[in-house]
Amino acid sequence: MKSSLILLSFSLAALTVSAGEASDPDVITSKASDIEFVGEQYRQLPFPRWLTEFTGMTRWPDLDPPYIPLDFIDMDKIPDFKPYRQGLCGVNPRDACSFDCDNCIAHDDVYTCPKLSQTFDDGPSPATLRLLNKLKHNTTFFALGINTVNHPDIYRKTMEAGHLMGSHTWSHAYLPSLSNEQIIAQIQWSIWAMNATGHHFPKWFRPPYGGIDNRVRAITRQFGLQAALWNHDTFDWKLVSNDPIRTEEQIYEEVRKWKSQGGGLILEHDGSHRPVDVALNVIDILGPDQMTVAQCVNGPDYIRNF
Ligand SMILES: [Zn+2]
Repeated sequence: MKSSLILLSFSLAALTVSAGEASDPDVITSKASDIEFVGEQYRQLPFPRWLTEFTGMTRWPDLDPPYIPLDFIDMDKIPDFKPYRQGLCGVNPRDACSFDCDNCIAHDDVYTCPKLSQTFDDGPSPATLRLLNKLKHNTTFFALGINTVNHPDIYRKTMEAGHLMGSHTWSHAYLPSLSNEQIIAQIQWSIWAMNATGHHFPKWFRPPYGGIDNRVRAITRQFGLQAALWNHDTFDWKLVSNDPIRTEEQIYEEVRKWKSQGGGLILEHDGSHRPVDVALNVIDILGPDQMTVAQCVNGPDYIRNF
């Protein structure tokens, strides 16, 4: 098993899938649902022996995972941008190609789809199960590592229902604010959670808050990950925060408008019940003629299953 961790030193060029052609994305600010389960008592997934051998640890980390050096990561390939906090977009370097700050899309970012398709971030959670009961098509779930080890049964159920699982980091960090080592830690622990639960290496990666720039990409590409962004945001998380400027009816109205315009990728959340309430109705509006992110670009579901 340990050897499978080292398999990632391959040519990235072979894995590059080009994004579709469409107009620039709409607004791109999003927010995590609250991460409810912090503390070892919530970890339902046993810590695997291969991971102890590899990391020296015996339990899954909390919100700030430790950096474990990996021999296939070349630090010299990572551009030397200074970290910047979320929302402080004025200070980010112009050549950073930031998605959340500047709507900048890299050549290998996927942000739209030939068919208008839903995607779900922040699970797995108990609310995910309600989606699984309703879905009649395969869709894409970007899972948090910490939620994956807290709800491995829900992760597996989602996967076994035929849905595509992608990475959404370990604990929903705004990656451009972190050091290179901290970004690596967020990615590696997310992947290890998926290895241990789903026995696969993810191909698709969704940055929390749309926080991706060329420094983050230089790291995620070395893991073989490809960014899956979006061009339609439901802002369903505003319902959770009781933001008065977002109502369910507004979301449905926008979804109907997007449907009349053709394809695209829609950002939704399955980390809590309120966004899932909305998603159940969005499924009715859009119907089952949707694609997974991999299908959108005719790409692979996973780098590897084992
Ligand atoms: Zn998220």
